[in-house]
Amino acid sequence: MFWYTHALFGLSLVSLITSDPSLLVLGLCVSIIPDLDKLLGHRRWFSHSPFSAAFLSLVVLPLSSPLHSLVVFVSLISHILLDLVTKSGLPLLYPVRTTNYGLRLVSAHSKRANKLFMLLGLLILLCKWTPKLLR
Ligand SMILES: [Zn+2]
Repeated sequence: MFWYTHALFGLSLVSLITSDPSLLVLGLCVSIIPDLDKLLGHRRWFSHSPFSAAFLSLVVLPLSSPLHSLVVFVSLISHILLDLVTKSGLPLLYPVRTTNYGLRLVSAHSKRANKLFMLLGLLILLCKWTPKLLR
């Protein structure tokens, strides 16, 4: 998926657990971190594994708060969820196994798929924020 699709979808999922603007920005930024692996072998190691999401959220825990840690975890898992539908799949069990798993439905560069997930992210944000705006 495109970086901005991950950013929007990550932001939308984080908005379900917090309304704090700084945590929303944190979620938006963290949700694109796994794709920084492109220089070292995209989707071939720790970067796209749920174990990495759990590990990084545990690393953050003593440095901040449980909510920060949860935001990091949800943001990274949101990235993994979107990439799971792509044709290349992900090494979900890394470092135990290096096999890629996934639904393999669409290309990561499919404009249609990216638009669909961006629309889903926008719908989540609208459902979250519309009741507050109408008050
Ligand atoms: Zn990715």
